[in-house]
Amino acid sequence: MATYLVFLGPPGAGKGTQAKRLAHELQIPQISTGDLFREHLRQETALGKRANEYIKKGELVPDEVTVGMVRDRLSAADCADGAIFDGFPRTASQARALDEILDEKGATLTAVFCVDISEEELLRRLTGRRVCRENGHIFHLEFNPPEEAGACDYDGSELYQRDDDKEETVRERIRVYQEQTAPLCSHYDKRGKLVEIDGEQSIEAVTESLLQALADGQDE
Ligand code: ADP
Ligand code: AMP
Repeated sequence: MATYLVFLGPPGAGKGTQAKRLAHELQIPQISTGDLFREHLRQETALGKRANEYIKKGELVPDEVTVGMVRDRLSAADCADGAIFDGFPRTASQARALDEILDEKGATLTAVFCVDISEEELLRRLTGRRVCRENGHIFHLEFNPPEEAGACDYDGSELYQRDDDKEETVRERIRVYQEQTAPLCSHYDKRGKLVEIDGEQSIEAVTESLLQALADGQDE
């Protein structure tokens, strides 16, 4: 059966870091809506320019734009065995749309991980985050530094600080998360899909917890 996983958690919780590691481990693609928007922006598409009006303010891109993009991505052949959603869904309407899309494929969500972390730690993570230009590989100046300063370990491309990782935008993104996305945790909990993960462990320990939760789920 195909495996569809969702990562919920505030910006900076480690969703992208873990989604990439699980994607590698499980051999299914990571679908990060943030990365998809940033790629559109880099290619200067109309969608990218429209999305950036919201991203730069720390607001959510409208649901119809986001859902259309995800629907498109999920129709690709590499998603036949499942996918790992990182940063999607972020609203109740996106969660409904995801159910519908999976339903059309005859699939359901396997598990939803909610990554818990304190606001203080989030700020430390977001201000030190650096991302590579070419493929969005994620580093941290202090917690996960690249071997060579300013260059990606995997593809050598330049590391940069995201515009929306500035402190004032970060605070707005955390506020938007609490208001619009955090309620999805109880929604998925009621459906028996939620797995809470302690995001303040080391990167390796978080991955272990995720793999253990998946193994426990298979035994049930
Ligand atoms: P999100 O996708 O949830 O916004 P990221 O995966 O980009 O978060 O992680 C935010 C920052 O924190 C990055 O700089 C990343 O290297 C760092 N990071 C991720 N997980 C951990 C961890 N368990 N411990 C310390 N730093 C981490
Ligand atoms: P992220 O890379 O997940 O931190 O997302 C960066 C920004 O992209 C967010 O602050 C939003 O502006 C936008 N974004 C990403 N995913 C979504 C989504 N599912 N719905 C709406 N906006 C999104």
